[in-house]
Amino acid sequence: MPNPSPLKLVLLGPPGAGKGTQAARLLERLELCYLSTGDVLRRHRAAGTALGRQAADHMDAGELVPDDIVIAMLLEEGDDPRHGFLLDGFPRTIVQGEALEARLAAAGTTLSAVILIDVPDELIVDRISSRLTCPHGHVYDVRSPSGRAGACERDGESLVRRDDDHAEIVRRRLAVYRDLTAPLEDFYALRQLFLRVDGSRPPEEVFGAVLAALEGLGAGDAVAR
Ligand code: ADP
Repeated sequence: MPNPSPLKLVLLGPPGAGKGTQAARLLERLELCYLSTGDVLRRHRAAGTALGRQAADHMDAGELVPDDIVIAMLLEEGDDPRHGFLLDGFPRTIVQGEALEARLAAAGTTLSAVILIDVPDELIVDRISSRLTCPHGHVYDVRSPSGRAGACERDGESLVRRDDDHAEIVRRRLAVYRDLTAPLEDFYALRQLFLRVDGSRPPEEVFGAVLAALEGLGAGDAVAR
């Protein structure tokens, strides 16, 4: 049976907040179209497309890819937004937030909520400098069993350190987040869409808080097992 009111969610938070980890858990519960702009950009790079080449230097420097490129990519990749979605890594600037709002308005819909996963900077640098990822975006700590084995436990792919996961670049990504992305907190607070979750706790606890926040929104039926 089609879901009568599918959730339209944005995951917001600094690099290393655990957005990808929480997204994977949410998708086990909710049938939503998932789009991670970071993953899409990395796929373009790996495939050597024009877009991937345009994005590469920005990504490696820890800077944002220009708004027009990312917005065009999102419009091309995104399905009909009325069916529900989970966006990870978009929007990252006010201009992108406005573009998303316009796209949704054109489809006669609006966001259900923006989940902010909040983590202090010191913890982020530590987390990112010890993380490994597989080509499909699954994330592991180097000290975990899968991290030590160097293979993804979900798809068997080799784990690697992302080019932009080095301490100096991580600090630049954090500064960019504070300057360009954090202003979206006020943007969404004004629209009363904001759900703030403490992301410094273990992933299961953060997930519990995410579910509780969604239930508070009246989305209890959608997330209940
Ligand atoms: P993280 O959240 O860990 O920083 P992502 O995988 O979401 O990593 O993004 C990696 C990089 O891809 C960013 O540092 C940026 O260069 C680029 N990127 C991803 N999404 C966007 C976006 N919405 N706007 C601009 N650049 C983006």
